[in-house]
Amino acid sequence: MQAFDPDRYSRQTRFTPLGADGQARLAAGRVAVVGCGALGSVVAMALVRAGVGFVRLIDRDVPERSNLPRQVLFDEADVAAGLPKAVAAARHLEQINSAAVIEPAVADLTAATAASLLGGIDVIVDGTDNFEARFLVNEWCCRHGLPWVHGGAIGAEGRVLTILPGRTACLRCLVPEPPAPGSLPTCDTAGIIGPAALVVGGVEAAEAIKLLVGGHDKASSRMLVCDLWENVWRTIDLSALAAHGCPTCRGGDFPWLEGRLGGRPTALCGRDAVQVLPATQGIDLVALASRLAGVGSVTANPWIVRAQVEPGIELAVFTDGRAIVSGTRDEARARSIVAKYVGG
Ligand SMILES: [Zn+2]
Repeated sequence: MQAFDPDRYSRQTRFTPLGADGQARLAAGRVAVVGCGALGSVVAMALVRAGVGFVRLIDRDVPERSNLPRQVLFDEADVAAGLPKAVAAARHLEQINSAAVIEPAVADLTAATAASLLGGIDVIVDGTDNFEARFLVNEWCCRHGLPWVHGGAIGAEGRVLTILPGRTACLRCLVPEPPAPGSLPTCDTAGIIGPAALVVGGVEAAEAIKLLVGGHDKASSRMLVCDLWENVWRTIDLSALAAHGCPTCRGGDFPWLEGRLGGRPTALCGRDAVQVLPATQGIDLVALASRLAGVGSVTANPWIVRAQVEPGIELAVFTDGRAIVSGTRDEARARSIVAKYVGG
């Protein structure tokens, strides 16, 4: 850690609501960014530039060319290198602010990994693309009384809701039942323009900064909803939902965190790919790489082994045993490919 650099942050400390005290709180702050895609890139970059002392980047995927229009922490070299997003993003962020501690976590947020990935954190920010991860974060934060910032962007639309368990509406207050897979538009089906992610990520970062400097009184049960194409900006008052509460924020019901919901294979947003979770944690990637060398072209780094296993099908296996099968959205086919080439 470098000593505090007052000149570096002079334009922030001059902003009265933040001030030198707020800057010190940012330096002591510990944030987890869940998902390091379009939103997570913006959030992580803004927070690290602002002087947040510790940022954990949680992401399960690798960057692709189709990510580059909006995932501002990655470049063409990252796509070519095939490093996990969390690792590539951490390297860029360390260049931006060498005083920040950046902790990449190449992992999937599940009931089994929630405690290790979300523990020791003050504020969690949503950069994810799926409801399972969001419900896990919501339940973790409701259980531990932690604030988190929910955000989403699709097409030219965005929304942001800051959640303070017990004070504001939570995600389950807003979305009582998680939507069935395929029932909502995604960035696969509806597309997305980069500025929508920049706006939502920027607002999420501002909310996280306010929470870290103690501006909890600024949080309300108002959700920002915007449409950059139609020039619509509004907030929706959720205080009636907050007053009533839900089984999670009022009743202590945590079905995702306790593994009663979730855990199925998932099609990845923005990817022609399916993730298959491991039967057991961990795998010997060196042995796997040598086994797959007889099947097709293999590339390996300390985090991932990737192999072209069938025409049009790429298999990527991570150190935690997860596999991503690219070239299909058929979950049954993805599972059978993993069983055939990885085992389990
Ligand atoms: Zn609730």
